[in-house]
Order: sequence, then structure tokens, then C-alpha cells
Amino acid sequence: MKIQFLGSAQEVGRSCIVVNDWMLFDAGIKIGKGASEHPQDFSEKDIKAVFISHAHLDHTGALPLLNHMGLRCVIYATKMTRAITKILLADSIHIEEIKGQHPAYTEENINNILSYFSYTDFNRWYEEKSINMRYKFYNAGHIPGSASILVEFDDSNKGGQRRKIFYTGDINATDTNLMQGLTYQKDKDLRNVDVMISETTYGGRDHPNREEQENEFLKIISYTLNNHGSVLIPAFAVGRSQEILLMLAKKNFNVPIYLDGMGKKVTDLCLNQNKFVRDGKAFRKAIDKVEYIKDHKQRKRIVQSQAIIVTTSGMMDGGPIMDYIKYFYHDKNNAILLTGYQAEESNGRRLLEHGYVEVDNKTYDVKAFVKKFDFSAHSGQKELIEMIKGINPKHLILNHGDPEEMNEFILKLKSVKEIHVPVLGEVVRV
Ligand SMILES: [Zn+2]
Ligand SMILES: [Zn+2]
Repeated sequence: MKIQFLGSAQEVGRSCIVVNDWMLFDAGIKIGKGASEHPQDFSEKDIKAVFISHAHLDHTGALPLLNHMGLRCVIYATKMTRAITKILLADSIHIEEIKGQHPAYTEENINNILSYFSYTDFNRWYEEKSINMRYKFYNAGHIPGSASILVEFDDSNKGGQRRKIFYTGDINATDTNLMQGLTYQKDKDLRNVDVMISETTYGGRDHPNREEQENEFLKIISYTLNNHGSVLIPAFAVGRSQEILLMLAKKNFNVPIYLDGMGKKVTDLCLNQNKFVRDGKAFRKAIDKVEYIKDHKQRKRIVQSQAIIVTTSGMMDGGPIMDYIKYFYHDKNNAILLTGYQAEESNGRRLLEHGYVEVDNKTYDVKAFVKKFDFSAHSGQKELIEMIKGINPKHLILNHGDPEEMNEFILKLKSVKEIHVPVLGEVVRV
């Protein structure tokens, strides 16, 4: 098997892996301060099948550019992944334009890409006779629609032998309020996997106890409300906003709960396709308590009284949060609770480390109480190791992790014989 890493090699971002020159796993971008980075040296030779693990842009953001470069084949993904990808791609072209970049692709490329999708359910084989291949998707527990993908095919780089490759995508084995954690280790079809590509985002450490994090989060909200403050919760649109709303539904807070930003669209998708969340009924019940906020005028009105506001962006770098922060920053009775990873040079990181944020080139010294919680949607080290041991592949390739995390991880993986940690552009032959 010939496996080339055009991205996500000792980095988090732009996942894009070509197998035997015709099969593609994910096509993501790396989003940073400047221009987004695309997969390196993609050349449309004869890609026959694209598998998309989930909708996050570090796994889908390059699809329109690849279409512009000639990619025309079927894209296998879950129905939810396509629905969320549609929202995120539309937003990303918008963001690139705001940044003053001129993407090489157009809206037409996005529409083309969306027309190539073929829906895949979990836990059953699909045959593609024309290329002697079959594939099976498993719930990956990461965000709604997220999948780990098993492909069995005739490996022309090994005399046409029947072989299996398993790609985890981003995974979480812990149950959250929104998602059921992955449970596929024991599936008999995952025995005898020749090659497994695993993410290692948190390969170097374990997460703090989730229940304790959640209890503390709710306790601080109660405390803030009792002190006549309001609570502002920056949250990613996909997964995190919905997870937070489910947590909030566990308590009977006597103030309104508002949802603003792109999380509204994703929340509606979760309501309409509730087989992709752990408990559809509980989700509907939680959302019944939530009011959607539409525009600046409404925002101005709701900040006049006590409230809990969940809104994008999760790193406080855009979206309605930029509006809310101006009303929230000065009052020490208010709380701003960060709920996810804060990249270097993001406003969220600045707030945590230096106590200020920048909005429209103006600096705001934040007096409100600030705390960050770990509600990660990725498996920690222990869970990753357990999963890999359960599957016990012949060859293990690690990707989607920073070098420090990967180094820590490898030290713990002594029992696995063949470990590959490719660098960008490297071809692994097994
Ligand atoms: Zn992801
Ligand atoms: Zn990712």
C-alpha cells in the first residue's frame, strides 16, 4: 500500500491522505492568522473515491479547491457530515473574502462538491464493485455525523492482495451529553486491519475528569447569577454549542438562555436528524428552553437583563461574541466561560493570559470573571491507547497531532511493532 500525507503530518490541520493514488481520506485546510494552508502538492491523477470523516474544515475545507483542480469523483460521508460541511464551506469562503484573500475556487466549486456526496450509514458494508472495494463507517463520537472509516480493497501495490485500511478521523471514546463515544474496537471486521491511521491530538495527555468540569461549570453559572451577573459562553458552532445547551438544561436557571451565531443552524440540523445525537428527545427538551437571537437589535435588548448567552466564535475572534463582549467586559459580576481550545494569538488566549481582548482594533480590559473549561471532543491518551490495542493493526500510522503530543504518545505505545510517523509529503509504503 502506498500512503501519502499531503497534510496532518505531525500537525493538526489540513488532513489529506492519498492511498494508492486513487483513494482520498479527507481534504482539509489549516486555518491560522494568515492565509489558510491547503494540502501540499495535490495532483489530480485519478482519484476515484473520497472518504470524508467529518465536517470540520481541517477535514473538508480543501474540497472546493480540489474540485477547481479537477477532482470530480464520488464523496462518501454521512448525511449529517454533508449538511454541516455545506454550512462550513459557505462560511469559509466568506471568511477568506473578509480576510482579503482571493480563493482560487468559487461558489460553483462548492456546489459541485456538494453534488458528489453519497450518503453512508454506520455499521454496514457498502460495495463498490467497479473498483473492487467495500467500505464501512463507524460512529467516531467526535461531532454529529463523524465517522471512522474501514476500506477493504485489492492492493495493486501488493500483487492485488485483499487488504484493509482503517482511518480514525477525529475520535472520542467518552460519552458526552451530545454524542455517544465510539465503541467499535471489538467489531470483528476490524480484526486483521493491515494499516490503521490514528489521530493523536491529545496523544500526550489525559483530559481532566469531565463530570467534575461540568459540575464546576454549572456551579460558577449559579454563583454568577446569584450575584446579579450574566454569563457569556463562547462556543464552537459544531458540537460544542449543542453540548453546552444540554449541560445548561440540567439545571433550572431562572434566567433566559439564548443561542446566537452559526450554532443555531447546526442545532436545527441536530433536531431534524436526531439519530446523529446520543439522545434526540433530551436534545429537543433542552432546546425548548433556548431562544435564538437574530440580530444586533435583539442583542442590544437582551443584554439589558440577566441572561446566559451561548454564541460563536469559540475563540472570540469573530461572530456575535464580538458584539456581546462590549456589553460584558466591564462588570466584575459577569462571567465569561471559555469552553474549548484557544489558539495562540486568538482573543480567547489573550483574555486568558493577559486579561484583555481586541475588538475592532480597540482594547478592552476585561473585569468580568474568566475561566476556561476542558470539554474536549477528542479522546485523551489513555483512550487512544486502549482503542489502538483493541484493534491491534499490523501497521500503525500516527497523524493529526503536534510533534510533542506524538512523541509522548509513542513512548506509551511500546507493544505496537510497526509505528510510522510521517512528515509532510512523505509516502509510507507497507
Ligand atoms: Zn474535528
Ligand atoms: Zn481535525
